[in-house]
Amino acid sequence: MRLEEGVRCLKGVGPKKAELLERLGIHTVYDLLTWYPRAYEDRSTLTSIADLRAGEKASVSGVIMSLSEKQAGKRNMTLLTAMVSDGTGFLQVTWFNQKYLKQKLKQGTRIFLTGKAAYAYGGRGNYAMSQLSSFQILEEDETADASCGIQPIYRATERLNQKFFRQMIQKLLEDMEGLPEVVPEVVAEKYQLMPRMEAFRNIHFPADAAAMKAARNRLAFEELYLIQCGLMVIKKRNREGKRGVRHLQDSRLMRQVASSLPFALTKDQQKAWESIRRDMESTVPMRRLVQGDVGSGKTVIAMLALVKTVENGCQGALMAPTEILAEQHYHTFSESLGKFGIRVGFLSGRLTKKQRDEVYEKIRSHEMDIVIGTHALIQDGVSFAHLGLVVTDEQHRFGIAQRAALEKQGDLLPDVLVMTATPIPRTMTLTVYGDLDVSLIKELPPGRKPVRTFVRHPERRTLIYDYVLKQIREGRQAYVVCPLVEMNEELPLPSAEEVYEELRYGIFRGIPCGLIHGRMKAADKEAVMQAFHAGKIKLLVSTTVIEVGVNVPNASIMVVEHAERFGLAQLHQLRGRIGRGPYQSFCILVSDSRTETAKERLRIMESTNDGFLLAEEDLKLRGPGEFFGAMQHGLPDLKIADVLTDLDILLKARQAALETMEREQDMRQVLSLLSLQYREHFSHIMET
Ligand code: ADP
Ligand code: MG
Repeated sequence: MRLEEGVRCLKGVGPKKAELLERLGIHTVYDLLTWYPRAYEDRSTLTSIADLRAGEKASVSGVIMSLSEKQAGKRNMTLLTAMVSDGTGFLQVTWFNQKYLKQKLKQGTRIFLTGKAAYAYGGRGNYAMSQLSSFQILEEDETADASCGIQPIYRATERLNQKFFRQMIQKLLEDMEGLPEVVPEVVAEKYQLMPRMEAFRNIHFPADAAAMKAARNRLAFEELYLIQCGLMVIKKRNREGKRGVRHLQDSRLMRQVASSLPFALTKDQQKAWESIRRDMESTVPMRRLVQGDVGSGKTVIAMLALVKTVENGCQGALMAPTEILAEQHYHTFSESLGKFGIRVGFLSGRLTKKQRDEVYEKIRSHEMDIVIGTHALIQDGVSFAHLGLVVTDEQHRFGIAQRAALEKQGDLLPDVLVMTATPIPRTMTLTVYGDLDVSLIKELPPGRKPVRTFVRHPERRTLIYDYVLKQIREGRQAYVVCPLVEMNEELPLPSAEEVYEELRYGIFRGIPCGLIHGRMKAADKEAVMQAFHAGKIKLLVSTTVIEVGVNVPNASIMVVEHAERFGLAQLHQLRGRIGRGPYQSFCILVSDSRTETAKERLRIMESTNDGFLLAEEDLKLRGPGEFFGAMQHGLPDLKIADVLTDLDILLKARQAALETMEREQDMRQVLSLLSLQYREHFSHIMET
C-alpha cells in the first residue's frame, strides 16, 4: 500500500465511505494517517467513584442508571442530568443545552468521563462532575479499563464516527510496516527524534503521555523541517546561477541626497540601510523584507535604495497597495528628488489611456528613473528599459505571483525590497517569508510622543468631539474613522457619510471638514487628501482607506467609531496615522460592545503601542487560520505544528534544514518527498 494511494484501496472503505472522507479532505492513505487526533482521553488512570476527591480532576467509567431533564434559569436552559454508577458509588453529571444528547444517552449506556469532581450537595449521588472536560460514549464491545490506555478523539462526523476512525487508523498502522523515513538519519540522530513509524503509532494510540509528547514533537519537527527545506531551495534557486543587477558603491548623487535629508537616520534605519546597500552591491539578487512598525520611517529607506539604483543608471519601481498611498509617495519623492534631476513618474488605474500610454513609453525609453504606482505597475504593457530595483510597500496585499511578475522584467534579476508595517510574529517570518532576508526597524524616530489611547462609551461622544474641536483650535488636525461608507439598513451602524453630515453641521460648523472613502473617484480622493495634507481640511471623516501609510504629521487626534468592528492589527495601523509629528497625540476608540473578548481586545489597544505585541495578541485571539489566510502566503496549512507555540521546534527544524542543504544526497531525498506531500506548493521547485 502506497501512501499516495486513494483511500478506496483500504479495506472497509467503499464508494460511500470514500465520499464522506473526501468531504473531510481525506483523499489518500497519507491523509488518513495524518488525520491527527484533536484530543485524547486518558483511560490509563481510571478512578473509581468511591475514590473521587472534591476539587481533583479524574477519569471515571460507568453506566448510566437514570436520566432526567428539566428547564432552569431565566434563559430557560435545558439541563440534562445523568446518574452514573461504576458499582462503587454514584456520580451525577449535568449537561447544559445539549438537546441532541438525549437521544444518544440512554439508561444502560456505558460512558467514560473526565472532569473535576465536586460534592453533590443536595443531589442524590455521592459526587457531581463540576467541570466536565470530556466524555465519550463507549461502544458495546468496549470497556474502559486501564488496558485501553490513552484513546484518541478524532474530528468525526455523524456517519464517520470515532469508532470508524479508530479502527481504520489502527488497522492502517498494523499493515504499514515499512514506512520510509523522511528526515535524514544524521538529523534524526542529532535532534533525537522518535522514529517515524513509532511517532505515527504514538500520536494515534500513545503508550503513555511522554510517548505522545515525543511523537508530537517529532511530527511537528518533520512538518516544519520539510517546509523549511522547500523554502530554502526556493531561496537558493532564486539566487544561484542567476545574476542580479550589480550596484556600485555610493557616489556623488547618493551623497547629495543623503545629506539633503532633514534628519539623521535612527540606528535601526542605519542598520537596515547598511544591509540593503550590501545586498545591492552584490551580484546575488537582493530579496529583503524590511519590517518596521508604523511610523518607524521605512519610506526614507526605500528612497535611498531607489536613488542608489538610479545612480547606477537603472530604473526603480515602487509599488503601493492603494491609490492614496501611491500618490503620497509620488509627492514626497518628486519633492525630495526632483531637484537632483531624478525623473519621478506616476502610474495608476485612474490615468486615462492616453496618459498611461505616455507613461509606458517613458518607462520603455528610460525617460523616467523612478516609477511609483499601484498594481497598474505590473500590468501588461509596462516594460522597463533597465529595471534595477523593485520596492513593494505593504506587500502582503500583493500576491506572490504579482511580485514575481515584476521581478521577471529585464535580463538581470532586479533587486527586490519588501516593506511591511504589519508586524509579523517571528514564527511567521520564518515560515511565510522564509525565502526573504529580514531587517527590523523597531525604534521610532526621536522626539515622538507615544499615542495615548482611550476606550470610551458612545454616551460620551459630545465630550470626545469637544476635545477634538479644542485640538483643532490649537492648530492640529483630526481623523474620524467609521466602519461603513454609507447607510446600510441591515447594520445599525453610523456610516462615514452620516457621521460627516452630523459633524460638519453640528459641533464642527465653520470648521473645514472632508470626507474620504473607497467608493469615491480616485481624482476626488486625491483632492481631499491633498487638502488634508495642506492643512486646508481640519477634520477628515474616513473609512479604512487611510489605513496604510498616510502621513500627515500635524494630525494629532483620531476618533474610531465602533472600534470593536476592527481587528487589532488594523486599529494599530489606523492609530499609526497620528503621532507622526512632535505633538502629543490621542486615539479614542468609541465602543459600546459588551462582550468580554471585544472589551479585552480594546483594552490591549489601550495598554500598548507595540505593534509586534499586538500582532501576537491578534494571532492568539483570531487563531492562525484567519491570520495566515489574510496574508495569502501560498504555503501549505500546518497539520500538527502550531505557528504560535512551536517556535523552539521551528528553530531546530530550520537549523536542521540549513544543515541538510549542505548535503547534496540528503537534499535530493527530502525534495522528492516534498513534492509528494506538498505537491501544490512545492512541485515547481522540482521542475528545474
Ligand atoms: P512608515 O515606516 O510608517 O512608512 P514613514 O516612512 O512614513 O513611516 O515615516 C514617518 C515620518 O517620520 C515621516 O514624516 C518621516 O519624514 C519621519 N522620519 C523618518 N525617519 C526619521 C528620522 N530618522 N528622524 C526623524 N523623522 C523621521
Ligand atoms: Mg510607509
